[in-house]
Order: sequence, then C-alpha cells, then structure tokens
Amino acid sequence: MIKYDLHSHTTFSDGRLSVAELLERATEKGVDVLAITDHDTTAAILPAQQYIEQNALALELISGVEISTRWESFEIHIVGLAVDIHHPELVKLLETQQAKRQARAEEIGRRLEKRGYEGIFDRAKELAAEAEITRAHFAAALVERGVAKNIQGVFKKFLARNKTGYVPSQWCDMATAIAAIKAAGGVSVLAHPARYQMSSKWLRKLLNEFSACGGQAMEVAQPQQAPPERQFLGQLSREYNLLASQGSDFHYPMPWLDLGKNLYLPKDCQGVWQFWQANEEC
Ligand code: AMP
Ligand code: MN
Ligand code: MN
Ligand code: MN
Repeated sequence: MIKYDLHSHTTFSDGRLSVAELLERATEKGVDVLAITDHDTTAAILPAQQYIEQNALALELISGVEISTRWESFEIHIVGLAVDIHHPELVKLLETQQAKRQARAEEIGRRLEKRGYEGIFDRAKELAAEAEITRAHFAAALVERGVAKNIQGVFKKFLARNKTGYVPSQWCDMATAIAAIKAAGGVSVLAHPARYQMSSKWLRKLLNEFSACGGQAMEVAQPQQAPPERQFLGQLSREYNLLASQGSDFHYPMPWLDLGKNLYLPKDCQGVWQFWQANEEC
C-alpha cells in the first residue's frame, strides 16, 4: 500500500519543521508520497525538490499550497495539489494573498497593542522569520507573554472568530482560488471540511458551491478524527462526486498527530491521486 500524506506545513508558513526536517521525518514515518501545502505560499517546493534529489530520498513530492478563501462568513481553506508553482495566475494570486496577510497581521498587531501587548507585532514577525505570517505566530508570541498555556488557549481567548484579535481578512473567493489552481494544472481540494464548525446543512451548501466553482476533491481522512466523521465525509465525497484526499495537516509532532499517521480512505472513495496518475499516463 502506498502511504499518502497530502497536507503538511513547513517553516515557510506556520509549520515548525524546516523543509529538510519535514522530509526526513516523512521518510522515517514511511510516507511514500508527501504534499507540502503551506499557507498561501509555494516557497518550500523548490528547496524540497532539491533536498530530495541531493539526498536520494525515497519520497515523491507533490507540489501543493493551501489557499485561504472567504465564503459567506467563513474562512474556507482550499488545498491545491500537483500545481505548477511557476504558473503566472497562481503566482499572482499568491502575491495578492501574501499582501493581505501582511496587512491583516498589522491590524491584528494594532488591536493587540491597544489591549496592552506592546511590541507584539514585531515579535510575531520575528517568530515568522522567512515565513508568511499567520495567526499561529501571534499565538506563539502571546504564549511567551503568559496569556495562555498553549497556542490553542490563545486562539480561544484572542484569535478565534469574533475575538479581539480576530481580523476578518478579505481573502479571495473560492472561485478565484479554484481557477488559479486549475490554470496551474492542479486539483482543488476542500480542506478539513469538518473543522469549520458548520451544520451539515451549511456543509452541503458549501460542497454545492465548491463543486459549482470547479472544485474536484475534498479531504476525507485526517489522523485525529473519530471513525464516524471519516465515514460521513467519505459518504459526502461519493454523494458530491468528489475525489477523496487524506492528509495530516502536520505542523509539528504531537502524540496524536504525525506525518502519515492513521490515514486511510473509507471504502469506495476515489483517491485524489487518480488526478495526477491519469495526467501522467497521457
Ligand atoms: P491564518 O491562516 O493566519 O488565519 O492562521 C490559521 C492557522 O492557525 C491555522 O492554519 C492553524 O495552523 C492555526 N489555528 C487556527 N485555529 C487554531 C486553534 N483553535 N488552535 C490552534 N491553532 C489554530
Ligand atoms: Mn496552519
Ligand atoms: Mn487549514
Ligand atoms: Mn493546513
């Protein structure tokens, strides 16, 4: 059985492992095919290709990206897999998204500074270093100030939807992200559908619109997931005629979440890898 893990992050966004550390760990964990899908950037892909080649790792890399989009009042993440990272439409969209990330981060900083967390933007930016800045960097900076014990605690207090430090960003819409991924030859995957805290009525509305915009796949399997949820998502993928993906959404090792861990699709789901396997054949 080929082990696929099609959702992971590096220090080019909010992952804590460098490209080299991530690739070595994926290899150790027996992953055969790994997609790197950083938030709104493909900066990790070329260094990853180089590292695999130079170290002759037995690992196939899928070029990916996770694009933040706005749909209704939700932030919906769309993963693009097997994309041409040089395609001008994708490059341009990611540049716009990166500018929006920077502007949003500045606003988050202003709001938190008003609450007394002086210099928090500078610290978050420092922690982000070469990465696209994310809320996770603010969360880490606030953990340092003792706001909460961990990142999850800070999100709950300050950064989750409707909290003081939450700034709704004008991310692109789903159609724009899907069109850019398609132009770049890739497949669009609706990321972690169960994590948006939506009723199943809303989830179905989302799947309808995602499909209508040309979305072709959805994530079905994640390591940290109750079996009924996986079955339910598998059923939705069949119902909406979407390919099924699996990925750890790895940011750093945790006891219950790791690269390649507990990833399998329910019966009768069509693996998203069919997309690039079909392209390779013709
Ligand atoms: P951003 O893309 O800047 O909005 O940051 C979102 C990132 O923050 C996600 O990709 C997660 O890695 C992380 N995140 C979001 N919500 C939570 C949460 N409740 N607890 C911990 N991390 C979270
Ligand atoms: Mn993240
Ligand atoms: Mn996500
Ligand atoms: Mn992710």
